[in-house]
Amino acid sequence: MHSWPHPHLPVLTETGLRPQLQDTATGRRFDPVVAGAAHLYVCGITPYDSTHLGHAFTYVAFDTLNRVWRDAGLEVRYVQNVTDVDDPLLERAEQTGVDWRELAADQVQLFRTDMQALRVLPPEHYIGVVESTDLVVSAVERLVAAGAAYRVDQDVYADLGADSRFGSVSNLDPETMSRFFAERGGDPEREGKKDPLDPLLWRGRRAGEPWWDGASLGPGRPGWHIECGALAEHYLGLPVTVEGGGADLIFPHHEMGTSHLRFLHPGDEEPIRGYLHTGLVAYQGTKMSKSLGNLVFVSGLLADGVDVRAIRMVLLAHHYSESWEYTDAELDEAGRRLGRWRAAVDATAATGGAHAQETSPPAAAAQTTPGSAVVQEMREALANNLDTAACLEVVDRAAARGPLAAEVITAIDALLGIELT
Ligand code: ZN
Repeated sequence: MHSWPHPHLPVLTETGLRPQLQDTATGRRFDPVVAGAAHLYVCGITPYDSTHLGHAFTYVAFDTLNRVWRDAGLEVRYVQNVTDVDDPLLERAEQTGVDWRELAADQVQLFRTDMQALRVLPPEHYIGVVESTDLVVSAVERLVAAGAAYRVDQDVYADLGADSRFGSVSNLDPETMSRFFAERGGDPEREGKKDPLDPLLWRGRRAGEPWWDGASLGPGRPGWHIECGALAEHYLGLPVTVEGGGADLIFPHHEMGTSHLRFLHPGDEEPIRGYLHTGLVAYQGTKMSKSLGNLVFVSGLLADGVDVRAIRMVLLAHHYSESWEYTDAELDEAGRRLGRWRAAVDATAATGGAHAQETSPPAAAAQTTPGSAVVQEMREALANNLDTAACLEVVDRAAARGPLAAEVITAIDALLGIELT
């Protein structure tokens, strides 16, 4: 499916820094990029409650990674999926009496509109499951052939017992795995499975449910984890540089997906080089959740007349790995911060721009740190495991000193996605 229009992305004069990233699986800081190619897979939405601030936090965080990698001169390839057929989507469609395809299409369109408004760089491939069932079927057939999958009636499950490295992504104890599996879409009670944790790869056709031709698997629909594995393998190739998503995807989704990929990418090398996970966003004292009805939508804030740059600044003020609680006060604070930055841009215009300052600096600007030093500081903050909060503070200090140099204004756009002019 198509993604959304590409915002203008200015290129800074000198090449930026390659970021050190903290890998969820190993806890180590490292640069996962090999040979200048950065391949990013970010798990997309299940389109039935987009786009709340929890989603926006995740996609803006990976947008920062995308921007920082590009600034460092890397060739970025970015793939994101849409889980446009899955149990929660079908349940919501049933409850509301809307055709599931219509619900998905409407929600995906809303997501695109929100991402465009937020100036998130679009993925190179934006792929729905519905249009990729052949890839999933082929991946599951290969898992069966590798002895890593088995049938239970008309369904196919992964055999986790075949993967000696299972557990290395989340590093959770068995009790926590069982709890998360049950809470996050798993079916531990299903009879006939070898292990309660074994995840579904292919769900055989059921009356009243959508289904696709599954070749040797029989008619049915894809399981969730294999979907991302199959898309990552096909569109990016293995190993993937970074796989990412919200922290609630660490287990079971990314643990299971990696386990599947090990059989599609045999050998000692792990199929994913590094994992980045974003914190969860709470509101009114608890995690944003559709069942609790405490969702704050990007589209709702925009309809209320909130400046989209202030929304982006609220999100960037938190380190991507942090779980935090959204408050209206924080949005107000971001609005004031945006006001200070814009005032510093207006001051730049009033002095005739940064180029004029270089030749004949006015008295007020004489104390100003050179723009290149500010840009360097911004890059250093972001290279430090994408410390966006520190990067915003660098700009705060520069704006407090006086007019912002033109190259700083450009860097704010290129690195933070905030257009001030
Ligand atoms: Zn995924």
